[in-house]
Amino acid sequence: MSENSSSTTARISTYLMMIVLIVLALSIVALILSVNAFLIGNEIVAGYLLVIGFIAMGLSVYVLLQSRKRAASMKIEAPKVMTTIECKKCGFKSVREFQRGDFIFKDLDACQKCEDKMIIAAIYKEVKEKEKTYGV
Ligand SMILES: [Zn+2]
Repeated sequence: MSENSSSTTARISTYLMMIVLIVLALSIVALILSVNAFLIGNEIVAGYLLVIGFIAMGLSVYVLLQSRKRAASMKIEAPKVMTTIECKKCGFKSVREFQRGDFIFKDLDACQKCEDKMIIAAIYKEVKEKEKTYGV
């Protein structure tokens, strides 16, 4: 499943990159044509081409930056599973990464403070704020 989706996103981003590059090239052409039109003395056409060129360039750069951000967030997408350990006697809490065999209410080592037995109070996935928009 994950292999399929990652190859699909890779294909989409390559496709997107090509479109972005074409738009970027067209925007450069528009800017060159605008300079040409300006030199000829056709200032209205030059103005239009300049606006089109800048909009296209801004758009492609924006999409490029957006897709880079998305790619970066995909790399750190795998959320960590955390285990909260709690001492029922004194309320001492600690959080560590999930270890194989962890389950809720499992007895663990003695509490650092009161030497009573600690138990696993919660197991959860660590979700970062940034990843929310790109969540599955
Ligand atoms: Zn304790």
